[in-house]
Amino acid sequence: MLKSNLFTLHYPPPQIIAKREEVRRELLQKSPHLSGGRITRIFQSDLKLLFDLYDRIFFHNYFRDHFTGRLLLSFSTRMTKNAGMTVYPRNLKNLSPKEERYELRISAVIFFSYDKLERDKVVNGVKTRDSLEALQLVFEHELCHLIELHCFKESSCRQERFQSLALNLFGHTESCHQLPLIPEIATAKYGLSIGDRVSFQVEGKTFDGIICRITKRATVMVPDAGGLYRDRAGKRYSKYYVPLALLKKR
Ligand SMILES: [Zn+2]
Repeated sequence: MLKSNLFTLHYPPPQIIAKREEVRRELLQKSPHLSGGRITRIFQSDLKLLFDLYDRIFFHNYFRDHFTGRLLLSFSTRMTKNAGMTVYPRNLKNLSPKEERYELRISAVIFFSYDKLERDKVVNGVKTRDSLEALQLVFEHELCHLIELHCFKESSCRQERFQSLALNLFGHTESCHQLPLIPEIATAKYGLSIGDRVSFQVEGKTFDGIICRITKRATVMVPDAGGLYRDRAGKRYSKYYVPLALLKKR
């Protein structure tokens, strides 16, 4: 298959579903880390497997046979909002095919948090049944970025060209995910939100403060005359990173 054909691939919806299932089935067969649709651990080698399966099942092995650039597949432990991201050099337009470099970065925490909330989890307009399917949908979105970058040296999922590619290839009707994110889980599980007054204990001593950020832990600002941080009114604070389960709402 030629590069120019990548953008003309078009599968009818039943075929997309069948191909996506085929990828899933083979991934579960071949990965020593995955045992079902619920992801509890996953490795970079699983992303490599996933990529090779998509390449074969959706792209007629275009990447295996014709792509001469470099492709890195990685998990990020820092991405807590974006489920996936495609990174490429700024000077991509000036690079020869051999110099092309891309990195598909996937958030790990979002997929591990998948089951923490009971509600519909739609990714790219498709309702997912488990975290593995959600991972596939996110991966598909990044593959569309990869193809668009490879063919046109620029890519935007807000533009029509990307959206028709994602629709034709994978049946995506949107470019976003509604997977549970940490602040929503914090609110649902612990009743905690940004701006809440909370207390927590460190070595038997109780501290009172205000939540100003929630990632894997909450960032709590505690009034402290000797603190390093100062608000607009000149009041000083110390900053604490506290696991959500240890916070008490006041
Ligand atoms: Zn995107």
